[in-house]
Amino acid sequence: MKYEIAELHKAVEQLSIDVRELFYRLYSVDISTGSLRIPVEMEDWVKKRFGSLERVEKQQILAIKNRFTGEHSLFNRLRSDRPVEAKSAIAVVREELEDKGKCLFCNPVKQTPADVFGRIKGKYCITGSNIAKYDAFHSLIIFNEHNPLTMRREWIEDYLRTGERWFEEASKLEEKQLQKFFIWNCLWRSGASIIHGHIQLTASRMRYGKLELLEKVAADYKREFNSDYIEDLYKVHKGLGLAKEHKGERILFYLTPIKEKEIVVISKAGRSDEMADTIYKLLRAYLNMGVQSFNLAIFQLEAYHIVRLVDRGSLEDRNSDIGAMELYAASVISSDPFKLAQVISI
Ligand SMILES: [Zn+2]
Repeated sequence: MKYEIAELHKAVEQLSIDVRELFYRLYSVDISTGSLRIPVEMEDWVKKRFGSLERVEKQQILAIKNRFTGEHSLFNRLRSDRPVEAKSAIAVVREELEDKGKCLFCNPVKQTPADVFGRIKGKYCITGSNIAKYDAFHSLIIFNEHNPLTMRREWIEDYLRTGERWFEEASKLEEKQLQKFFIWNCLWRSGASIIHGHIQLTASRMRYGKLELLEKVAADYKREFNSDYIEDLYKVHKGLGLAKEHKGERILFYLTPIKEKEIVVISKAGRSDEMADTIYKLLRAYLNMGVQSFNLAIFQLEAYHIVRLVDRGSLEDRNSDIGAMELYAASVISSDPFKLAQVISI
């Protein structure tokens, strides 16, 4: 049975009693209708743009909130059809991605600083120290390949393995285990300031606030329900047809995405490079869907490695995909996790 996010209630009804109970333990859902009146002068334009007047005059909004983490997403299918005002030429973008002139990262040994323990050299990448750091340990995995949208499975594995080696060196220097965090901001929509492909690494003494909150949710959940939060999250997604398994990794087409097409991977892998095949396949699926810019984060939560991956929109758009709603309230989403689960075969 195939559903759309607007039919979430139907998908929940078909769950077994146990999983349905879990769904309502984890989530609250609200469906409401936004109404408006179209003036006669706008009727033709609306019909052309959205197909029918009725779709626009009565818009169904589905709000879903994770009761524990506060993650909250608002879905309105009509939003994905709304006009986009800002435009530029895609040909210019393609040219820009291939233009290596003056690229500092094409010559990392001479043009980027080294860490105090030197550089870690992978087969397809090399590390450099970040010149203006977020945190005391903040470095870069600089890919040999300039164009960040060109990728191969063995390259991804090598990037992650090189990152793990960097964390070992940083921890050795600090003489204690640091919190590892991988950040892959791909192209300017995602916050990347340099086009050349790179992953950032931070090793922090202090647990980052958002990760600590998640850890607290998992601990409180265990105490209250004597059950594993991550495991239950997976059970609910699986029951709804929003999860897949690949080589031991569990892939969730997330019910409360932070922004478009968010995917969360849960893994019991001991090291991030063990997840390379899954990460590569998901990125490849993203590129096949036309995703041009994304954020990817990898971190540890208790015995798990968690990967979060999100689409940040078209490189041609000048408007940001994130506004006051996402920063301070809830995420407004145009993509549908049920459709995403159907499109991504892994
Ligand atoms: Zn370059």
